[in-house]
Amino acid sequence: MSPDPSTSLAEVLRASSEVLSQAGVSSPRHDAEALASYALGADRSAVRSWLALGVSINAEQVSHIQALVERRAGREPLQHITGSTGFARIDLLVGPGVFVPRPESELLVERALVEVQSIVIAGQAPVVVDLCSGSGAIGLAIAHECSTAQLHSVELDDDAFLWLQRNVEALNLGARVQAYHEDATSALPELTGRVDVVVCNPPYVPLDATIRDPEAARFDPPMALWGGIDGLDVIRGIEANAARLLQPGGLLVIEHADVQGETLPLLLMSSYHDNQRVWTDVMDQRDLTDRPRFTVARRAGTA
Ligand code: GLN
Repeated sequence: MSPDPSTSLAEVLRASSEVLSQAGVSSPRHDAEALASYALGADRSAVRSWLALGVSINAEQVSHIQALVERRAGREPLQHITGSTGFARIDLLVGPGVFVPRPESELLVERALVEVQSIVIAGQAPVVVDLCSGSGAIGLAIAHECSTAQLHSVELDDDAFLWLQRNVEALNLGARVQAYHEDATSALPELTGRVDVVVCNPPYVPLDATIRDPEAARFDPPMALWGGIDGLDVIRGIEANAARLLQPGGLLVIEHADVQGETLPLLLMSSYHDNQRVWTDVMDQRDLTDRPRFTVARRAGTA
């Protein structure tokens, strides 16, 4: 019997990267390395050092990597293939049926954490609600950073809710984290007026928008993306529920499409209850590509 033919890892990565680039994948080299580390059961830095050492891999390893690269070339999201994604400082399990968390949503975590820390400094345990939670990304990242935060994560979609439950279990943050299979526009009546921070990445893509990346268009659940004609359909219900949940002075942090940097703040500023403005300190924030990305507002009124 002839020995297993082996191929240099560098050559496999070069060829994989070429296949991915031909398929229109935007970060071919990165994805090739990520798939190789996944297939070889090693972290990225180990793969890098093997490359530097000119290591070869066996035929079975080569075909495992090639099979994963084929799937990625079919534009299946990298995160579905590897089954997880990094978000803020946590790892989340993801796959078919749940929206893959995006780096821009990490900005909402940062903003919410500033608020959460100020509540901790004041000697209280922050109560945080994450609406349209999906995999649980935003809320769980907050609960991971703040060990006294009480988190209530809400997700309506059956499949997404299963991913949320898996992540709650995997991160093992204890009884202070609860998942609810409920509608974000009416969820948690028992917390009326008791919440410090509401975070939300709702479905907000307007009906006339085109989702260009096949990864999002074909693999993110439509329910996590589309928000009606102006993209604000779900957000209108979220606004009303957040107004009910938050105590006076409580903070709303909500992501939006880059075309909603004026319409969403306006929606909040035009919300009235008993002739009083519902929201104060309405501010829009940009993402790292300088596009309007999320709105922050405080619940008006005094405790
Ligand atoms: N940012 C996502 C996208 O552009 C949309 C997310 C959402 O609707 N919440 O694909």
